[in-house]
Amino acid sequence: MKKLSFFKQVELSFDRAAKYTSFSKDILDQIKKTNSIIHIHFPIKKDDGSIEVIEAWRAQHSHHRSPCKGGIRFSTIANEDEVKALAALMTYKCAIVDVPFGGAKGAVKIDSRNYSEAELERIVRRLTFELYNKRFIGPGIDVPAPDYGSGAREMAWISDTYKSLSNELNAIACVTGKPVTQGGIRGRAEATGLGVAFGLKEFCENKTIAQAYGVEHGIRNKRIAIQGLGNVGYFSALFLSQFGAKIVAVSEYEGMISNEQGLDIEALYKYRKQEGTIEKFPGGQFTKNREDVFSYECDILIPAALEAQINSENYNVIKARVIAEAANGPVTDEASQKLFEKGVVIIPDVYLNAGGVTVSYFEWIKNLSHIRLGRIERRYDQKSFNNMAALVSEITGTTIDSEKIDEYANHGGEKNLVASGLEETMINSLHELFEVCQSKDFAIDLRTAAFISAINKIAISYEENGIFP
Ligand code: NAD
Repeated sequence: MKKLSFFKQVELSFDRAAKYTSFSKDILDQIKKTNSIIHIHFPIKKDDGSIEVIEAWRAQHSHHRSPCKGGIRFSTIANEDEVKALAALMTYKCAIVDVPFGGAKGAVKIDSRNYSEAELERIVRRLTFELYNKRFIGPGIDVPAPDYGSGAREMAWISDTYKSLSNELNAIACVTGKPVTQGGIRGRAEATGLGVAFGLKEFCENKTIAQAYGVEHGIRNKRIAIQGLGNVGYFSALFLSQFGAKIVAVSEYEGMISNEQGLDIEALYKYRKQEGTIEKFPGGQFTKNREDVFSYECDILIPAALEAQINSENYNVIKARVIAEAANGPVTDEASQKLFEKGVVIIPDVYLNAGGVTVSYFEWIKNLSHIRLGRIERRYDQKSFNNMAALVSEITGTTIDSEKIDEYANHGGEKNLVASGLEETMINSLHELFEVCQSKDFAIDLRTAAFISAINKIAISYEENGIFP
């Protein structure tokens, strides 16, 4: 059977959900289409004096809200179809978690490990110049972020280049995921993984939801296997183990490591950073076949590496009751349908990995308002709480432990506010998706529910804007 392109698979999910809405074909077509895309080539000078031509894309899937938002990938397997699919997923993701952006995505077709830091900087700065010239970047136009192969360092280069070109007051809001010292926000680096952990915790801890999906109530001691120990995989594993779950298996390029008592995630991550492999990690048993993670006996399987990892060839080996899509598009459409028929629950990427863009939204707001979150109210809140505690003490004649007062009075500043806003988003959005499934007597999967929710919100925004008079 012919393999469907990634973008076609996203369209299939869309079409399946669209049948449950009453919007006209015209509106649905407008939502589905990629609004703008550029495919560019530009030269950079290598350290040895030679010239290399770099290929890159930026797709703006939807302009129904401004700006567009989405990461920039550095990957040798990047292509136009993938960029379009990932940009479309961003549109639906933002709508699902009520982040007021259209979707976008970019890719640079390189393996960053093959370039010196100075060469990478030249690539990123020239890319920013190209995007700026073509009006594909700006705080109210299109705001990139990190993705596979890129991070805070690259975002700082983008911000600095944009600032020097535009001279705008809000220039640093042209990109998110920056280092905190360059206008970034505390908690962005771990946001996607923390969002995955919050989403899964709510799924297991909420009695109604857990029961509806036949999952034993509670996150404690849930046995979890994870593919990929990069940014998203590591932080998902770390926070889930802090919530009491057991990470029993982790796979990476070189193989899989497992431990029935639960792996020490921090130690494993440090070990791989130092040694470049998990092979001889002393806290678990190693096997060379990284694919073993899919058939590992566990409650929850988290693919956190790349797309199309679970497909029509291997879906049958999965033993987990729940698949939590931390990566983008890790389960193909065909496998997704077959797994649904088998009763496996898939918590979809368009909801579950939205923590990154949610906290990027907080960073963008912080940049536009030019103030750290919590700066104005923190001390005022503390004083009000202390006064209230003193009053309660006076009226009741009891002494309240001062450490307890400090603990409750201190809302902990930006990092805690970000985590709290993220938790609120992940819990609310899961309940919205659950209610859509409930309203269809659970005849649809959570992905279809997520797309229904996204289509409803985007179509209504078009009608509100009077774009279809
Ligand atoms: P990353 O580069 O930090 O990590 C990916 C990890 O997966 C790497 O450690 C890599 O070695 C490993 N890997 C690759 N192929 C593998 C395989 N076949 N088996 C086992 N391990 C493998 O990337 P990331 O930022 O963690 O992104 C991972 C996924 O999450 C991507 O699909 C990305 O689009 C998605 N995502 C990322 C963010 C974010 O904020 N970083 C947000 C939303 C979605």
